[in-house]
Amino acid sequence: MIRDWDITETNMGRLSEGRLPEVVVLSTGALEPHNRHLPEGQDYLHTTHVSRTVVERASAAGAAVLWLPTIAYGVDANLMDFPLAVHVSQQTLDALLEDIIRSCAAYGIRKVVIINGHGGNDFAPLVRRLQTEIEVHLFACNWWTVGRDQYAEIFEEEDDHAGEMETSVALALYPHLVERQRAGDGVSAPFRFEALNKGWVSTSRRFIRLNDHCAVGRPHAATAEKGHRYLDLVIDRIAHFVVQLSHATVDDSFPMQEQN
Ligand SMILES: [Zn+2]
Repeated sequence: MIRDWDITETNMGRLSEGRLPEVVVLSTGALEPHNRHLPEGQDYLHTTHVSRTVVERASAAGAAVLWLPTIAYGVDANLMDFPLAVHVSQQTLDALLEDIIRSCAAYGIRKVVIINGHGGNDFAPLVRRLQTEIEVHLFACNWWTVGRDQYAEIFEEEDDHAGEMETSVALALYPHLVERQRAGDGVSAPFRFEALNKGWVSTSRRFIRLNDHCAVGRPHAATAEKGHRYLDLVIDRIAHFVVQLSHATVDDSFPMQEQN
């Protein structure tokens, strides 16, 4: 069966007959170490699952939406002390996204959702600039934050990198790729400054200075069931947004509330 929502499966005949999508979903990941027990493709794998399932559910609910393949590479300059991070600069990522978005815009597609799955990637400046240059509205989310308000209901501890949430997600989606017996404890050194620990001031951490296994967050309490619960919550929320976005009219006040 050909899935029309997947650009790699649909064909020109179908695209010519049917309506072109209202919304395109593009996602971004990374190739990098995640403690010693999770796959290097973790951010690529979970983000591909999230974005595909979002599009599949939104499409089933009536959205005219098209999934584009995940960009596997991410910004990883601060993890390169560990094997094997593949670092791509933000400028390179932005240039690639811009070309893809301009291609979509050439076909009249005016709504693009970027689902990001790696903390090192930051598309906010691209979104701000590009939608003032071309007739496209860009929306971006870091999918792992979408269910933050329910986080404490599901998980015992906060996760930053390769901890309870990410290990739970991996156990839910690809348990055969999780080597739990290899996992380090995920305990990392705090900053020496209160301003950084409280988050009033931010910086970028060189991960080798945190611990010897490239992890921030303890994986021990992870279960597949927790992973499924969190993924379901996040995917439902983003899919609901995509359905609303698909049906929305791009008028002069879009995306703001209509004035009466
Ligand atoms: Zn990750």
